[in-house]
Amino acid sequence: MSYTGPDFEPPRPELSGRPDRPRRWPAVAGVALVSGALLGWLVYEATASSDSSGGPGSDRAAARSAASGSPSGPAAATPPSAPGSPSRSSAPAGSSAPADDDGKRSGGPALRGPLRGKVVVIDPGHNPGNFRHPAEINRKVDIGTNRKECDTTGTSTNAGYPEAQFTLDVAHRLRTLLEQQGATVKLTHDDGTPSWGPCVDERARIGNDAHADAAISLHADGSAAGNRGFHVILPAAVHSGAADTRPIAAASKRLGTMIAGDFVRVTGEPPSNYIGGGTGLDTRQDLGGLNLSTVPKVFIECGNMRDSVDAARLTSGNWRQKAAEGISEGIVSFLGG
Ligand code: ZN
Repeated sequence: MSYTGPDFEPPRPELSGRPDRPRRWPAVAGVALVSGALLGWLVYEATASSDSSGGPGSDRAAARSAASGSPSGPAAATPPSAPGSPSRSSAPAGSSAPADDDGKRSGGPALRGPLRGKVVVIDPGHNPGNFRHPAEINRKVDIGTNRKECDTTGTSTNAGYPEAQFTLDVAHRLRTLLEQQGATVKLTHDDGTPSWGPCVDERARIGNDAHADAAISLHADGSAAGNRGFHVILPAAVHSGAADTRPIAAASKRLGTMIAGDFVRVTGEPPSNYIGGGTGLDTRQDLGGLNLSTVPKVFIECGNMRDSVDAARLTSGNWRQKAAEGISEGIVSFLGG
């Protein structure tokens, strides 16, 4: 894979009109015009309902727990709106961030803002240097439920734009946005330090040691062409060895649900058509970065790098800014902003 990732801004193609597998437009797309708290609630409800159907790796117990005490009216009856139709300014309330913000450091947290006093850890998935350290990243580490590779190289677009560059770029943009909201932000790695990794167990530990109020691991997927859309990965409630996510499963689900709702609204990216049954949410128990977390944490796969439509978005700086804004707004919603 190449490191000469394009800085180009390819034209954004129209959504493919070719026959595709049937898409089940989820509630999160259908309520794209609904504002803030109501949107979060509707998505939350839709998620709680859809989880009852279960799927490989789904966490029914957590879904029931999270949904307890709340009515479970379906939110999926709303017909879908057109994708790609963010409906309001994507800048966080009170933010003056320009749309073409390049993610440069803003000089630390703002003195005031809804996230003042909050700590957010951003984990840019993989590391651009992992390719040069196969022995180190292939070393197995204990993730509680299993032993897995320390880290992986990540995927890339067909044109060679590496996932590890994408995740760092979005991390920088997200850091700027969160700091503008007053948060203290820490990245698990940055600017080639360390030169590979960290291992997945260390990525979790960084969030734990920071006593993060929220943590997010940024990724883009490497699935087959035609598989499109984003999904947020939630930790299953596991208790095995060093892994005990029971205390954070419900909060992580709230965090992930809010991020999914804001991400679809701001970016227009549809929820995955190949994972999560159209909800944009998936629950897993095989990811060390989640299993070993003691703070609310989710992963987001922002799109599929191997699909040409998604790749055009993922390689666009303007779209990556929207991605960062969607994630930021979800974190602000979760932290009570
Ligand atoms: Zn990844």
